[in-house]
Amino acid sequence: MPSNERIAEYSMKATGMGISEIAITEHLFRFKQSLSLLNTVVARESNVEMADSMKAYFNFHATMDLDQYVESIQVAKNAGLPVRLGLEVDYYRGSMDEVSTMLSGYPFDVILGSIHWLGTWRFDDLDDPLSMGQWGVVSPDAVWMAYEEAMKELTETDACDVIAHPDLIKVHGEKPPMNSEFWSIMADILSKSGMTVEVSSAGWRKPVGEQYPAVELLAELARRGVPFTTASDAHTLSLVGDQMDKLRAMLIDVGVTSVRSFSTRVARDIDISQESTIESA
Ligand SMILES: [Zn+2]
Repeated sequence: MPSNERIAEYSMKATGMGISEIAITEHLFRFKQSLSLLNTVVARESNVEMADSMKAYFNFHATMDLDQYVESIQVAKNAGLPVRLGLEVDYYRGSMDEVSTMLSGYPFDVILGSIHWLGTWRFDDLDDPLSMGQWGVVSPDAVWMAYEEAMKELTETDACDVIAHPDLIKVHGEKPPMNSEFWSIMADILSKSGMTVEVSSAGWRKPVGEQYPAVELLAELARRGVPFTTASDAHTLSLVGDQMDKLRAMLIDVGVTSVRSFSTRVARDIDISQESTIESA
């Protein structure tokens, strides 16, 4: 749970870097309120080892109270800090309506949607040997197609406003088997959804060594007029605003003229040439 001091530190760091607002976006699976959703994910898995691993992962993380989280961010907002109440919602196959219903009573400014696991496979859990071992078990074609299917379902819901790190599946540096064809399919899925897409510096800190999304996908999205937000996905104070200038330069390079800000889930476009920018961490 982010303490008031921590939120203030994040805000101060962001402000000092010329960032005008910062969305705090904790994961939904870290809250006790998500336990029934999480149990559904585990119950669907027929592989006992994978199911047990996911269950242990969820039990370890689902400890916070969503109401207290919302309250703590609201206190910071009321104190005048430039923060937005955000949340990162993972993809729950077949259960996104349940997610929407669960979150409908909360005053979120912005909800990110993301795919960190396919079924119970935490494909970007770099420290987990079982998850990493799966990369050798599932064929590359099947991996990318499963990710594409997941993205289709996630973007057809109204559970979220922004798709975070839209090509996270490349985290290890694996290239999509179809390359340009894959990027164009993904760009179609994302642009049809009407959602905003996040451009994030977090990929520079992962084995893939590049931002999300890949330049090819970024250019395809820009060509289709898809709106963007920027993010560091910081997790720690030192990474707040990480490489924001580089991200902004990449956006300008593909012809983007504005970035998006959200308040009570309503979008507003801000000129990208302004000194300040927006970020989610
Ligand atoms: Zn994420």
